[in-house]
Amino acid sequence: MPATTSWNFHLPTRIHFGWNRLAEVGGLARETGATRVFAMVGRSFLARVGGEAGVVELLAPLAVTIFAEVEENPSIATVDGAAALCRASGAGVIVAIGGGSVLDAAKGVALLQTNDGSIRDYLDQVKKPTRRGLPLIAVPTTAGTGSEVTPFAVITNPEKNTKPAIAFPQSFPDHALVDPELTVGMPREIAVSTGLDAFTQSLEGFWSTRATEMTRAMSFRSIVLLWRHLEAACLDGDRAAIEQVALGSVIGGAQMGIIGNTALHPLSYPLTLGHSLRHGLACVIYAPAFLRFNAPALGPWFDDLAAVLGVSGPEHFADALTAKMERLGAPTRLSQIGVVRAELPEIVRTGVGGSTAANPRPLTPDDILKVLEGML
Ligand code: NAD
Repeated sequence: MPATTSWNFHLPTRIHFGWNRLAEVGGLARETGATRVFAMVGRSFLARVGGEAGVVELLAPLAVTIFAEVEENPSIATVDGAAALCRASGAGVIVAIGGGSVLDAAKGVALLQTNDGSIRDYLDQVKKPTRRGLPLIAVPTTAGTGSEVTPFAVITNPEKNTKPAIAFPQSFPDHALVDPELTVGMPREIAVSTGLDAFTQSLEGFWSTRATEMTRAMSFRSIVLLWRHLEAACLDGDRAAIEQVALGSVIGGAQMGIIGNTALHPLSYPLTLGHSLRHGLACVIYAPAFLRFNAPALGPWFDDLAAVLGVSGPEHFADALTAKMERLGAPTRLSQIGVVRAELPEIVRTGVGGSTAANPRPLTPDDILKVLEGML
């Protein structure tokens, strides 16, 4: 897995990281020159700040329109509906505070303020944006998808039962404000799922054929932070560990925003849509098996990582990861979530995406089927 030796790195998103920095969000919104703000907030955040009055206070003196109706795995209808409300509000900036679902929906809404049509047109690649979206300030409350630093927005198409994504350079948020405090108190199952999503994204970034020296340095660090601190953060609510997980998530997200994923993420979507498995769990469930499959394609960089993690090689890493997943309460076999053999060809058919080609070991649908059969 050679790291590409000729590369560019440009992250258009300005990152602000640290405890209690949420208080800065109003100032960042005002910096855009807007007088009206469209605030897309998750329900848990709304409860945390004591309802709509808390959001208004946070963003004062800007005039605030609040949208708190984004569901998990947001749909085309939700994005189109929120975009219409945003247009009607006359907002000049969008502040999104929530999990990946809220942040992704907000990217769609921002894009549709300056580009016409439905988000469906952009997901179906019928249209391409010609203009940058409305300024967007992304504040994650999970750690995480990394959506605050990526150009990706994953939007569910319920008619096709698919989760396509937009990935336009115009969709990087302007600011990512990462305050670990917002992730304190997450229910364990959400902390586990989102933390393992971050881990899987970094693992995929680490072994991706699109990795560069720069992105691999980031995925390396992210994997180490998440490996060391996920359990204390998720199981004990340890604040120091929660900070390290938030850091691992944003660092991992930043490299993913540049190079994308590999074979695992697209395979997660059929499990989320067909078996209601949370996104992060649907991603990481494949990781041990693909560590084994990809082993022949992992090179010297991997040896460095293994040394830091204290594992002897891919096989040992896969075993240790499975044990970690079990301690975290994550499923490790497809049969545990109700997948049966007869479904596997369809999971393979719908689970091959644009990023599959970046897997370090080239793989055919038959190869994937064999890996999945071993995971039942
Ligand atoms: P989520 O946003 O779907 O939220 C999951 C649940 O957690 C929701 O009920 C939400 O209300 C709740 N929640 C969020 N923060 C909380 C907090 N601090 N305390 C208590 N509850 C909280 O979960 P997610 O994993 O952050 O996002 C998943 C979505 O992001 C999926 O649609 C996935 O496809 C997408 N995604 C996007 C990218 C990207 O780069 N854009 C990357 C990975 C995943």
